[in-house]
Amino acid sequence: MEAEKARDRIEKLRAEINHHNYRYYVLDDPEVADAEYDGLMRELKALEEEHPRFLTPDSPTQRVGAAPVEAFGVVEHPLPLLSLGNAFSREELAAWYNRISRLLDGQKFDFACEHKIDGLAVALTYINGKLTTGATRGNGVRGEDITQNLRTVRSIPLSVPKDAPPRFEVRGEVFLPRAGFEKLNRERAKEGLPLFANPRNAAAGSVRQLDPRITAKRPLDIYIYMLGWAEGKATPPTHWETMEYLKSLGFKINPNNRLLNSIEQVAEFHHTWEEKRESLDYEADGIVVKVNRLGLQERLGNVGREPRWSIAYKFAAVEATTILKSIEISVGRTGTLNPYAVLEPVSVGGVTIKHAALHNEDDIRRKDIRIGDTVIVRRAGEVIPEVVKPIKAKRSGKEKEFSLPDKLYNRERKRPACPVCGAEIFRPEGEVMYYCSNAACPAQAQQSIEHFASRGAMDIRGIGESQSAMLLKEGLVKDVSDIYYLKDKRKQLLDIERMAELSVDNMLNAIDKSKNKPLSRVIFALGIRHVGSETAEILARRFHGIEALAKASREELINIEAVGPKIADSIIAFFREAENQKIIRRLKDAGVTLQEEVKTEKLPLAGQEFVVTGRLEAFSRQEAEARIKALGGTAKDNVTRKTNYLVVGAEPGGNKLLKAQELGTGQIKEEELLRLLGQK
Ligand code: NAD
Repeated sequence: MEAEKARDRIEKLRAEINHHNYRYYVLDDPEVADAEYDGLMRELKALEEEHPRFLTPDSPTQRVGAAPVEAFGVVEHPLPLLSLGNAFSREELAAWYNRISRLLDGQKFDFACEHKIDGLAVALTYINGKLTTGATRGNGVRGEDITQNLRTVRSIPLSVPKDAPPRFEVRGEVFLPRAGFEKLNRERAKEGLPLFANPRNAAAGSVRQLDPRITAKRPLDIYIYMLGWAEGKATPPTHWETMEYLKSLGFKINPNNRLLNSIEQVAEFHHTWEEKRESLDYEADGIVVKVNRLGLQERLGNVGREPRWSIAYKFAAVEATTILKSIEISVGRTGTLNPYAVLEPVSVGGVTIKHAALHNEDDIRRKDIRIGDTVIVRRAGEVIPEVVKPIKAKRSGKEKEFSLPDKLYNRERKRPACPVCGAEIFRPEGEVMYYCSNAACPAQAQQSIEHFASRGAMDIRGIGESQSAMLLKEGLVKDVSDIYYLKDKRKQLLDIERMAELSVDNMLNAIDKSKNKPLSRVIFALGIRHVGSETAEILARRFHGIEALAKASREELINIEAVGPKIADSIIAFFREAENQKIIRRLKDAGVTLQEEVKTEKLPLAGQEFVVTGRLEAFSRQEAEARIKALGGTAKDNVTRKTNYLVVGAEPGGNKLLKAQELGTGQIKEEELLRLLGQK
């Protein structure tokens, strides 16, 4: 780029990045997704590298974060808190590794690998055994004094053992566990307050409160990831040993940290956690790789705002910014009219998204999402992408508010109507969804067939969205029971365009195999409103057969744990419907499992509810929960009055412990759990 143009662009980028820094670091309310911000930053870096004479010390590439907010009181950091360089690909990781290997003359070294938790960096200073100051990173040199707020975080020790160094500072990431973040946003939505875009902003917003009582109510947690400095006592020569040492002083260290000795292992660590990131109870946006030996770290030193001895190797992004072009409605299998956003296509973590969930009309109104808005969308794991929030600052005034009845207004019929069959729509009292009133609506039939055949239900490979639509269109099926009579229609199936002999036979085989799926799958597959796979399992275990379930009274159903009046009414309504009774009869005649053998011996943990907190030695938390369930028990995330046992592992979560103490819930160690599971 020619110099003149480059300078203009550099100035524009700096202004834009400074604006985003202010929104992100000071207001905790970003206007763009991180990936977009990172893109601007990379462009600026590249331009400054190409034209070094335009590089100025006040460029955002040279500075960390944003200046502290004076209202908190300012803390000078004796040793600056830096940012981290980023690698977005295996090649960039390799480039970093080659660079430092060269600087270290080919000397071998280990890597400490940690999750890059998406929270807020803080520095905690201890003098003569007591926590004296807690500060944010601020601009790296001067941070905000948030000591009183950090004192409310239960996993931050207020004092340390006598043999700790007389003066030292540790650094760590304060974060809001996933569940806490979701709960906080739900509560804020109810109160009509703006939602936090992500857990980082929620954590930062919680810690940077002028009133510590607000901070105290938020379930914040911390992992310490570094010793900043220490005086008056020698500390270990490697990062790994330092972490062990800090753990012995009572600091909370992430149990997922690993010491690795090759860059391939580092890449593997990244890969493993990128896949499993959803299973963590905190949000991580990558891994941090650190040269383990502190002497080597010192030799490598820093460049500008980034240490050379460490790098953040990011996971694929989960958020992006785009335009919401329109809001359309699809009809769900239970007749729900589901609004969804049609987006300007955008790539999120390597996948292009065009649609995102909007849940319901109330939610759209609460978040104040309008047609034409610039929005932040988020895609996490397997779940459907969703619109997180609109960026109001980008509004032009032409955006339109959305109303579902207006959208579905049908001029001919002079009323709102189902977009597929034209039937009347209604919204039951106390519910957030609108429904199509026509039980025979073709959209519902297609959705229910798709659901019936889906992986979590009867798992019939070969019947997906397009096949269900085709089977309905050709009149080969009308409801789910017809699937089992398709074998008599092999010839017609073969006549249909695009259906090859092999795929027809594969489909028929898959249909035949599905007859032996357990009863719980069948109950779930029927698509009874409010009956998810977990409830279906509970119902199967309780009734052992569809007929018994169909005969169950409302009282009987309500008495089952996890079945409330809403679910009970829905089950009763389902079986009362003549059309559904016919489906069940035809499924039975076709030989689908509708009855299960009654096991005479009662499972040993039946009726017992467990909550697991902290890290277990013998197995992961998920595994422990699976074994509890296999023996008839239930495993929950939160301690309530119904909890029988809180299983306490290493580094347990403070909130669960506190709640258990408050409610007098029995607490057991891992050893006791193993005994109950019959493993000891
Ligand atoms: P960074 O978040 O990329 O990396 C440095 C930080 O990582 C540290 O300060 C620390 O808080 C954290 N960290 C977490 N776990 C760690 C561990 N185990 N060891 C060491 N550090 C660990 O750097 P940054 O300068 O704070 O900010 C850049 C990030 O913020 C980017 O992801 C960027 O997209 C985002 N950002 C977004 C906007 C926006 O408008 N969307 C604006 C500014 C910044």
